[in-house]
Amino acid sequence: MTDIFETLESEVRSYCRSWPAVFERAHGSSLTSEDGRTYLDFFSGAGALNYGHNNPALLQPLLEYLASGAVVHSLDMKTPAKRKFLQTFQDVILKPRNLDYKVMFPGPTGTNSVEAALKLARKATGRQHILSFTNAFHGMTLGSLSVTGNSMKRQGAGIPLTNSSKIPYDDYFDGETADFLWLERVLEDSGSGVDKPAAVIVETVQGEGGLNAARAEWLRGLSDLCTRYEILLIVDDVQAGCGRTGTFFSFEEAGITPDIVCLSKSISGYGLPLALTLFRPELDIWSPGEHNGTFRGHNPAFVTGTAALETYWRDGAFQKQVGARIVQLHEGLGRIAASVEGAKVRGRGLLAGVIFPDAESAGKIAAEAYEHGLLVETSGPESEVIKLMPALTISAEDLDRGLDILTEATRAATEARELAGAL
Ligand code: PMP
Repeated sequence: MTDIFETLESEVRSYCRSWPAVFERAHGSSLTSEDGRTYLDFFSGAGALNYGHNNPALLQPLLEYLASGAVVHSLDMKTPAKRKFLQTFQDVILKPRNLDYKVMFPGPTGTNSVEAALKLARKATGRQHILSFTNAFHGMTLGSLSVTGNSMKRQGAGIPLTNSSKIPYDDYFDGETADFLWLERVLEDSGSGVDKPAAVIVETVQGEGGLNAARAEWLRGLSDLCTRYEILLIVDDVQAGCGRTGTFFSFEEAGITPDIVCLSKSISGYGLPLALTLFRPELDIWSPGEHNGTFRGHNPAFVTGTAALETYWRDGAFQKQVGARIVQLHEGLGRIAASVEGAKVRGRGLLAGVIFPDAESAGKIAAEAYEHGLLVETSGPESEVIKLMPALTISAEDLDRGLDILTEATRAATEARELAGAL
């Protein structure tokens, strides 16, 4: 029975078109449909399920919290659940990394965090312009869309998207052109006609835009440039953060300290909606209620978010385990890329995949993988990249099993292409 999805639900639905099963149950890295098929999940709720589905270490405190009569909804009022989350976030994440950030809870999605970051950057600098990068993705509300690259998504706005310019991401040109050549010049040149921006917003790995991973030295160059010209640096860690690239924040490897950081997706740990915008204390110039919202700081999400930080980030054991999975994933992807001429590994950490030389292969491989019980999505402006985002908690066996399915799907899809080409 799937009629109601097609008759009542809007045409805007997307993932369910590639994966038409009705998913009923989930555990760890598995999803089971109501007709009893089990799928291995290398999609992880687009990065909202870094600790897998229904993780017992998070479920137990959630069930206890809900059954206890504790407050569920409280806007931004004080609750013990919020106190514990803030304390744990400070002790487990911020302090050990020497990060001095204030924590703001915007509405509970990634795009809300980005909107808050953009608004704050404009308010703090008194400037309007924001620079973002080619192939960036920052969300679907108007401010976030204005700093997003994808033309189809931008068109959906229906109005001009203004007050932002796109600049080339790392390796956009030939690898020969000096990084930030254009940007340095126009910022120096009072006749360039480019308004001095309030901020630059960047993803360290472009999750939706094709798994382009910026080099650490490029990120350091960007951070230096922002400091020199007094431009705020916003890192959108909505997808690449919460451990996805092997460290809690994706910018740790580069050793930079952004002025503003956007977090959402896996910050609640359990797939419950929650978002944070972090910023240097001097930037905390909001007036009370100036950026409001009904669903800021949802207590069940605080409970699971606290449990995730306690369980996985108190010591270094989990990060080490994730490191081993990263090596395993990249070895597997290397083998897949080597099996197709012109294919290359893309991405960083457990946010990685393979780009194919044509625009069709990745979609065909993803469809083939689905038939064999693996959920993987595509990424990039032409959906030319197969994108793997297994749970950080995945077992070595499940990761190998998924890679085997993907290898087989790649073989089947490329053989079919060669056959069609030969006819
Ligand atoms: N920023 C980045 C980097 C993202 O990947 C996404 C979601 N894919 C968003 C922002 C928007 O998050 P949300 O869909 O929760 O609004």
